[in-house]
Amino acid sequence: MTRNIAVLGATGSIGRSTLDVIRESNLTAANSAGACQFNIVLLSANNNSKDMDKLACEFPAARIVLSGTEGSGALLNAIAECGADIAVNGIAGAAGLRPSLAVLESGADLALANKETIVMASDLVFKTARKNESLIIPVDSEHSAIFNLVNAHGRDALQEIIITASGGPFRKYTKEQLQNVQVEDALAHPTWNMGTKITIDSASLANKGLEVIEAAKLFDMPSEKIKVVVHPQSIIHSMVRLKNGAVFAEASQPDMRVPISNAVFYPQVVNSIWGLLDFTDLTLTFEQPDTERFPMLRLAYEALEKGGSYTIAYNAANEVAVAAFLAKEIFFTDIANICAKVLDQDFSAASNTIEEILDTDKKARTAAGKIACN
Ligand code: MG
Repeated sequence: MTRNIAVLGATGSIGRSTLDVIRESNLTAANSAGACQFNIVLLSANNNSKDMDKLACEFPAARIVLSGTEGSGALLNAIAECGADIAVNGIAGAAGLRPSLAVLESGADLALANKETIVMASDLVFKTARKNESLIIPVDSEHSAIFNLVNAHGRDALQEIIITASGGPFRKYTKEQLQNVQVEDALAHPTWNMGTKITIDSASLANKGLEVIEAAKLFDMPSEKIKVVVHPQSIIHSMVRLKNGAVFAEASQPDMRVPISNAVFYPQVVNSIWGLLDFTDLTLTFEQPDTERFPMLRLAYEALEKGGSYTIAYNAANEVAVAAFLAKEIFFTDIANICAKVLDQDFSAASNTIEEILDTDKKARTAAGKIACN
């Protein structure tokens, strides 16, 4: 089997892991009949031309787009024209939304690592996927696990979803210690090696907040049926509790190549060398998240429950606040303060079209920027 694949955000953490999976699969395919051979038709990055030049040499058949210099329109055109069967979207932040829609409009399946796509525009995204008969396969490790568990047991059997959280590097910090966290401390994640923005989100639990919203939308679950449990080892990627009380978990070593493989081979299950668990020395622990010290998690539930466009506002305010923290303009704890104040504003009107969604996003960013300056 040959699959045409596009990798969006190819020089980022998800992109690099995806290319590992592709290299390994193509190596296997060269030696054994029946294995999947990937043909890379498109590689995109924002502005990392140095890494992209290397990838262009390694994958000469791929179209290369640097959206930072060529413009986002160039990327959208390339997605429409590249003939991909599947695209992995590893673009960071709200910038990933339009590319996700372009993938679905092209009729390709979408292996989705960009959670903002769902947090900002789930209705529009699902509608576009249905119209073009495209599949959305989550790549976020938690949602990949839930996706597999729901497929295994059936959506109707589900009682609740239990999302695991590493707890981030400040899991045991007091409120006072959190106040004094430096950018450098926040960028050191204990178990996952990721990009800058998601690493800060992981430290504030905003990443988990976004994942709660993403799970609610992807699996059509009310917020009260989505629980978060802190599991520092990041071995169990998430769980489902069925109506009969049985809990099922998906587990592997924390390695993004596991959920990426799941997505790019889906619905096939193929031999894998990634993330294999060794039970000879394995301890799994669990604790409750503290939303008092980590209010970004509580605010995500609040945004979800308020409905309207509040999840767009939550995401936008957080992106602005994280950028201000990285620029050393605000304290770590101000990230949640800014988001709380933005959520106090009126975002009750739904945003249905891409223009409305981006307008709401802009409005929330402006609001967050003003609060951050004060
Ligand atoms: Mg995750």
